[in-house]
Amino acid sequence: MPHKILIADDNDKNRTLFQDILIIHGFEVSVASDGHEAVAQARELMPDLILMDIQMPGMDGTAACCLLKGAPETSRIKIIAFTSFAMQGDEEKFIAAGFDGYLSKPVNTRELPLLIKQWLKGEVTV
Ligand SMILES: [Mg+2]
Repeated sequence: MPHKILIADDNDKNRTLFQDILIIHGFEVSVASDGHEAVAQARELMPDLILMDIQMPGMDGTAACCLLKGAPETSRIKIIAFTSFAMQGDEEKFIAAGFDGYLSKPVNTRELPLLIKQWLKGEVTV
């Protein structure tokens, strides 16, 4: 069974790019364009891992992560913070929100599938 990945990003280009890359590498991919959609999709599809953009309209990635990690049904889904706004102190915020890893944009598209495999194995990066 392929691993299921949910990509939550409000940027169409990012969503399409990462979806294409991950499908090529054999993952089963779903997409969401904001935090509310990400939470709804996560509950329905129970992905193995979520690539969660931080800056999204409506509900941001940190709030969506807190909701999912705070609910027993979804707390074990691995969630990776995905942001271009990495600043000092962000790492602490991501850990506090319960993220399992951290990825800054722009993403190295060759590394992405390898990183995802590491995260799925439980190699935590934050
Ligand atoms: Mg965004």
